[in-house]
Amino acid sequence: MTGEIVIVGAGLCGARAAFALRERGFSGHVTLVGEEVHLPYERPPLSKPSTAGPPVPQLVAARQAYDDAGIELLTGHCVTRIDRAAKRLVLSDAGSLGYDRLLLATGARPRRLPNLTASRLLLTLRTHGDAERIAARLVPGRRLVVIGGGFIGLELSAMARQAGAEVTVVEGQARLLARAVPAEIAALVEARHRQAGTRILLDAGVAAIDETEDEITVSLVDGTHVTGDVAVLGIGAVPNTELAEAAGLWLENGIAVDEYLTSSDPDIFAAGDCCSFPLALYGNKRIRLESWRSAQDQGSLVAANLLGARSPVGHVPWFWSDQFDLTLQIAGLADTATRAVRRELGDNAVILFHLEESGRLVAASAIGPGNTVARDVRLAEMLIAARAYPDPLALASPDIRLKSLLAA
Ligand SMILES: Cc1cc2nc3c(=O)[nH]c(=O)nc-3n(C[C@H](O)[C@H](O)[C@H](O)COP(=O)(O)OP(=O)(O)OC[C@H]3O[C@@H](n4cnc5c(N)ncnc54)[C@H](O)[C@@H]3O)c2cc1C
Repeated sequence: MTGEIVIVGAGLCGARAAFALRERGFSGHVTLVGEEVHLPYERPPLSKPSTAGPPVPQLVAARQAYDDAGIELLTGHCVTRIDRAAKRLVLSDAGSLGYDRLLLATGARPRRLPNLTASRLLLTLRTHGDAERIAARLVPGRRLVVIGGGFIGLELSAMARQAGAEVTVVEGQARLLARAVPAEIAALVEARHRQAGTRILLDAGVAAIDETEDEITVSLVDGTHVTGDVAVLGIGAVPNTELAEAAGLWLENGIAVDEYLTSSDPDIFAAGDCCSFPLALYGNKRIRLESWRSAQDQGSLVAANLLGARSPVGHVPWFWSDQFDLTLQIAGLADTATRAVRRELGDNAVILFHLEESGRLVAASAIGPGNTVARDVRLAEMLIAARAYPDPLALASPDIRLKSLLAA
């Protein structure tokens, strides 16, 4: 196939899609446009401790690889409008690009608190630039206030404690990780953070934020205050849908696509953090994921579909998080589960299997030091993909190998 394929958003998903087009033999023109100045890079390392020194972007591929693959990479360029009738994109520098098929891989950005404008000492963490600004402030004795006890906030807190900063986490809910992690596992995470000396305030709604020249004060709804040298807002992300919305595409918690990642315009596709899609494995429930593996897998899949294949999204959702010496992994979607079966994995590692009323395994969540849970979560993922109804007693028993349940 020949023609012009343009990808908007040079993150992991966009870059993976560009390379996958070439791997599938596409010989037409591929243009990858990204507003960030860096080559496409991985975001997970931004909130994981690295060796000393300022953060360095972990690139998806070196510059040469784009040249070798014949991918035209336009960094530092923002696409401001899609003219669907003319099949052209308008760029911020007033240039324009024509397309035959378009992929929107515009990702997501940090959610802000309503009525709160950006301030000098209140930061967010999404880009390499954000990570540099935060890293410069994480020095021994500095006070960091993290607003939000979700994944990004907790990974950052762990990183800050390891750098010797004093950390307070302010969470509006009654527990940490309330959105995505079962209470039993969230409690283990909380204990590890407290053990490391992090102050955790739960049920702590933010009423106001004020800053002076060198201090920021977070006032809570109960009338108390937390003061820090810097604060980071980690209250989730919102998908970048403005381009799609202005172009009249269907939106629903992101750019709404079908199972082939096609938007409401058959020549425009969307993938990665910016899109919501129906997942057959869960009765076509429409979901949007913010996950490294999903961005990577959807980048490859959408390349095939841009070239005319009809490959549906079928991956089991999977996410990991590293905090201190602990790794947490979640496979599947637990929303429809009515009970959890616990299996001890040794080395203080544990896995919970989430079962529906019918007995079908729909999700697994696990936590343990280092890589201890990886193998079991991988097997659970295979059981979930196989729509298995494993015996709960067998799931609970560490003596029965998960692999044998798969064979059954
Ligand atoms: C700090 C951090 C830690 C993370 N850790 C983990 C983890 O441990 N495990 C895990 O599974 N996931 C993790 N994630 C999530 C994972 O990184 C994301 O799911 C993944 O980056 C999504 O890739 P994407 O390409 O869809 O979007 P993005 O990475 O957001 O890339 C989208 C790109 O599009 C650009 N763009 C947007 N609009 C335009 C436009 N109009 N014109 C041009 N360019 C545009 C943006 O600037 C951005 O560079 C983490 C994310 C962050 C921020």
